[in-house]
Amino acid sequence: MWWLLLFLACRPEAEPEWFGDPGPVADACPEPPPATTGAPLTVPIRVVLGEGVNPDEASWYLRWASSWWRRHGVTLVAAGRSESTDGAPILAGGEARTLRDVLAPVRRRLTDRSSTAPAAVDVVFLPALAHAGSPVRQWFERLAGLTVSDVLLQRLRDADPHAELLKAAVVEGPYVPTVFLGLDTLDALPNERSRFVLPHELGHALGLVHHLDDGNLMEVGFPRCEPRLLQAQRDALRVSVP
Ligand SMILES: [Zn+2]
Repeated sequence: MWWLLLFLACRPEAEPEWFGDPGPVADACPEPPPATTGAPLTVPIRVVLGEGVNPDEASWYLRWASSWWRRHGVTLVAAGRSESTDGAPILAGGEARTLRDVLAPVRRRLTDRSSTAPAAVDVVFLPALAHAGSPVRQWFERLAGLTVSDVLLQRLRDADPHAELLKAAVVEGPYVPTVFLGLDTLDALPNERSRFVLPHELGHALGLVHHLDDGNLMEVGFPRCEPRLLQAQRDALRVSVP
């Protein structure tokens, strides 16, 4: 009996199928537009789950992101097993006065690239992105995802409405490009929008800036219904694995 208990205690928990087939979804999206093509890219993703996040819920978003990017020749793979972190929001609350203060928890959560197993992108699922009293809740009506990427920061144009926010998050030293997702906002969106938020954020993580065309993956706001990716955007993707 003790042996059995010991075995059960030591048995590694099964991981959800992070990047498998998402299956059908009931909504009114039309047929997807033709996909762009390019040299195949593989993106190792480290999945990080905040305390209180349901792994099956996280895998739903990852499988849709994987499915969308696969149509564009980009394969998302797991960089090792998933990791866990505390579930605290990454945008500080009422005591934060400046944008840099608000983003201090973001900087603390970025993984030091020099000390970890290779991952091209960290995807961190949290119950919420912003503390209840965070000024960000006034600046943005709804914020479901936030991405910090060194390539993105280099490319940001001043005209981008989110440039100031991201530039204030600049950190010293090499860090893994990181997507933060807040499930409170994400889950409140209809499926045909919520499932394209992570593909959009991964676009940022791979260096894509916002795009003004309606229906583009990188449009400002929440993309919907099989968003398009232009060939120039596909050609501009940057995958960096140390
Ligand atoms: Zn964006």
